[in-house]
Amino acid sequence: MSEAPSSGTPYPYDAPASQALFDRAAAVTPGGVNSPVRAFRAVGGTPRFMVSGSGPYLTDADGREYVDLVCSWGPMILGHSHPDVIAAVQDAVSRGTSFGTPGEGEVALAEEMVDRIEPLEQVRLVSSGTEATMSAIRLARGFTRRTKVIKFAGCYHGHVDSLLAAAGSGVATFALPDTPGVTGAQAGDTIVLPYNDLESVHEAFHRHPGEIACVITEASPGNMGVVPPQPGFNEGLRDACHKNGALYISDEVMTGFRTSRAGWYGVDGVRPDLMTFGKVMGGGFPAAAFGGRADVMAHLAPAGPVYQAGTLSGNPVATAAGLAQLRLLDEAAYAKVDAVSRTVQTLVTEALTKEGVAHRLQNASNMFSVFFTDREVRNYEDAKRQESFRFTAFFHSMLARGVYLPPSSFESWFVSTAHDEQAVQRIADALPAAARAAAEATAE
Ligand code: PLP
Repeated sequence: MSEAPSSGTPYPYDAPASQALFDRAAAVTPGGVNSPVRAFRAVGGTPRFMVSGSGPYLTDADGREYVDLVCSWGPMILGHSHPDVIAAVQDAVSRGTSFGTPGEGEVALAEEMVDRIEPLEQVRLVSSGTEATMSAIRLARGFTRRTKVIKFAGCYHGHVDSLLAAAGSGVATFALPDTPGVTGAQAGDTIVLPYNDLESVHEAFHRHPGEIACVITEASPGNMGVVPPQPGFNEGLRDACHKNGALYISDEVMTGFRTSRAGWYGVDGVRPDLMTFGKVMGGGFPAAAFGGRADVMAHLAPAGPVYQAGTLSGNPVATAAGLAQLRLLDEAAYAKVDAVSRTVQTLVTEALTKEGVAHRLQNASNMFSVFFTDREVRNYEDAKRQESFRFTAFFHSMLARGVYLPPSSFESWFVSTAHDEQAVQRIADALPAAARAAAEATAE
């Protein structure tokens, strides 16, 4: 797809160095990327290959600088190359990169996490959010000796086979696999329900007595755009689980240590049986975790029979980065991120309103996204009803003016403590033209 620069574009719009790298990548990597959303398929154009990051900025292979509103999909809550995180990494790496033995860094990271989140009594470190949710589901099944799992349409929990089942409409529909390679058997024990609909959860428990091992939900979803739980929804899930002998799993991979010092638990206080983490806790390195009730975690090998392991779990460099980042995240840091988030949200709304573009800003503490619709978005079906073609125009206009947004209208935007006045001003400067581009956009 060709990208048409609009008048007044402050940057040359072609990205020859990124395009050359993308061509090379496509020869050796499917689709030219190592994670699909990076490919810009939803918005078209050339994905930017980044070469460095500093504070709120990313610099691409063509030497262009962008204000980063993706923050590596959440982890970089202190901005890029925070000196204390870099120093901790350099210190750790100077002592070696992996030992395959226990080490103090992983203990210290686990202690920091347990200290912040009251229901997190024990924690097991892994290397990705996918591994965390996969392991939590296995543990829930092993603990309850049940097979079925409830998840919600539009919630993403990584590419775990059984959790890629997101299709199915109506109430308690057994999901069909959403991707080739996931078999009916793998998806067949997954019940996919509409988000924010407690009635459907009650019905599913009613129809499958004694069969449901757990309900897994994003603590506050950010993977269909930001769609927070309605008041009482998470409490209702917890109560339905406990009434029916199932475990309530709160996936905090995205919200954990971002939406507050104690993640979304710190916002809504609903106590899960198990929780999953990733992103912020790794400080930009592959570190993730699952944990929760000590009596449930006691079922995990080697303490118990449910097997789970990892060559690089608790890696000393990753845990050093994560620990350094968490230690910097005090109340003042969250207040800063929240304030920047509010400012950017206000700027976006003002610009779109001025151009008469129907939109809805939704947020969950400092996570937010814009839907191009005038109706409240409460679930995935609502999210799909937005005018995504307007986002495409908006995205490219922002990109051309040096602001890097998530390349999809179904993603959260992220800010950091490093987004200072200058960075916010760049966003403010880019918005009027982007709002105009959104207003003028037409569906193909
Ligand atoms: N759970 C949630 C809520 C996520 O947002 C993600 C990734 O975006 C995952 C799990 C999977 O994490 P990872 O990409 O580290 O495997």
